[in-house]
Amino acid sequence: MMVRSLAETLAQTALAAERGADLVELRVEQFTHAPDELIELLDQCPLPCILTCRPTWEGGHYEGDEATRAAFLQHVLLGERGEGDGVTRPPVYIDVELLAYQRSPEMRDLIARIVDHPAQEHPARVGLILSSHDFEQRPADLLQRVEAMLEAPECRVMKIVWQARSLRNNLEAFEVLRASYKPTIALCMGEFGLASRVLAKKFGALLTFAGLDDDTGTAPGQVGVATMKQLYRWDAIDRDTQVFGVIGWPVAHSKSPQIHNAGFDAVGHNGVYLPLPIPPEWEHFKATVGEWVADENLDFQGASVTIPHKAHLLQFVREQGGEIDELADRIGAANTLARRPNGSLFATNTDYGAALDAVCDAMQIEREDLAGKRVAVIGAGGVARAIVAGFAHYGATVVVYNRTASRAEELAKAFNGKTGKVVAAPMSKLCDTCCEIYINCTPIGMHPDVDASPMETLPKQTTSQTVVFDTIYNPTETKLLRQAKEAGCVTVGGIEMFNRQAAAQFELWTGKQAPAEVFNVGR
Ligand code: NAP
Repeated sequence: MMVRSLAETLAQTALAAERGADLVELRVEQFTHAPDELIELLDQCPLPCILTCRPTWEGGHYEGDEATRAAFLQHVLLGERGEGDGVTRPPVYIDVELLAYQRSPEMRDLIARIVDHPAQEHPARVGLILSSHDFEQRPADLLQRVEAMLEAPECRVMKIVWQARSLRNNLEAFEVLRASYKPTIALCMGEFGLASRVLAKKFGALLTFAGLDDDTGTAPGQVGVATMKQLYRWDAIDRDTQVFGVIGWPVAHSKSPQIHNAGFDAVGHNGVYLPLPIPPEWEHFKATVGEWVADENLDFQGASVTIPHKAHLLQFVREQGGEIDELADRIGAANTLARRPNGSLFATNTDYGAALDAVCDAMQIEREDLAGKRVAVIGAGGVARAIVAGFAHYGATVVVYNRTASRAEELAKAFNGKTGKVVAAPMSKLCDTCCEIYINCTPIGMHPDVDASPMETLPKQTTSQTVVFDTIYNPTETKLLRQAKEAGCVTVGGIEMFNRQAAAQFELWTGKQAPAEVFNVGR
């Protein structure tokens, strides 16, 4: 945390301890005017500390010269005249940049006198973290930097950090951790780097960094300590932890990490589930997922796959010689990647099953009882396609209504006659239908457009037996569902489908029943 005042930092360190932090990094570059207060802070700090005064040339705020920085640190650690009357509870580590170690005689001299290392002649209780940061990309000389830090005799801990440009960078950070013979911190910054922060422990890192809150970290991509501990289950992670995630673009808003991580916790499955952003193009998907599944040490066991990669998943698994669920293949989209015990890949689509079960549970019938039922599907996009395929597969008669009539016709043609009957009808006829089940597969009514409904009025023929299913789950009760409730119909919200598709993925990956209290699936 950035130190700006004694009182504020003491309060923040107490909070960090309360939230489960074991160690705190004090970034003191904006506090160099008050070395005596810093001594007081170190002496009173409720947690062991790392002391860091990061210069601007390495991404920090310290603007002075090296001689002044060394004198300030000496004042704190050894007293004003360097005679040992500085701090009484020294930090566990002091972090100094590799470049300063290599180029600054003043910092080198300070290090020689204050840190504990094999050739140290003075009593010293501070360990040296040598660090190297690149805020743009993976440094071209990554391995040389690592080697220099490993070879520095005073360096107790090596720290290498860079801005990730893709999820693949995390694998390199793990490789650095695995290959190191000194305590090491290897992290990637930015939205692509979260895996390196959460999985650091799996690969034997000395520590990971987390902010006091999600928004107050000291580096891009840092999450809060509570998120790290509770959402990503930091304490439960070990070398055998299996890795899962949600692949999409964007994925930061996804609620899936909350559900699946809580599920792992509830059933005691040694896994962690992360947001995995992959840019929209097939090449990115292929290269990233290819490297992640090929990395044996990672133990990447499965993923939820969302927009825009559902078709890419099918192509990828096909190219890898894996197995594809037949209906997912016909739908042309898969939302789930899983690994078979023999390591081979399997792609399936849990959306259609989830939609079928959400409706069947509300009607208290089995999937087979859908045969002959008349279903109106509004929309002809990705979700509509999965739903049409599912209902037609069980022999229902499906009528597709869509703003763009040609898309409705194409969809109907793709699934008509395989098992059930699928036809397209003009949107203007929607209110004249006499279907038993109505399903909204458009975003009409979704947040923030919550006063919109795909049907101005419900068809006259609706009865208390009619089912109205809105696939939208934000808000949980849409205008369409309110209209249906008022008309006395059976209603099904999109969350029912969302929870079921997630539960089916969980069961596929873990072999365990999805805990009802987490997935809210009343089965
Ligand atoms: P999509 O592929 O973009 O398809 C959207 C469909 O809605 C298209 O048929 C489009 O018609 C139609 N549409 C869009 N805006 C419209 C408007 N203003 N008026 C009339 N029609 C409109 O989207 P998707 O992936 O199928 O997702 C559809 C909805 O499903 C999402 O909005 C989301 O709420 C919901 N969903 C639910 C879950 C769940 O688990 N419950 C999961 C995913 C998605 P055109 O063909 O004319 O463009």
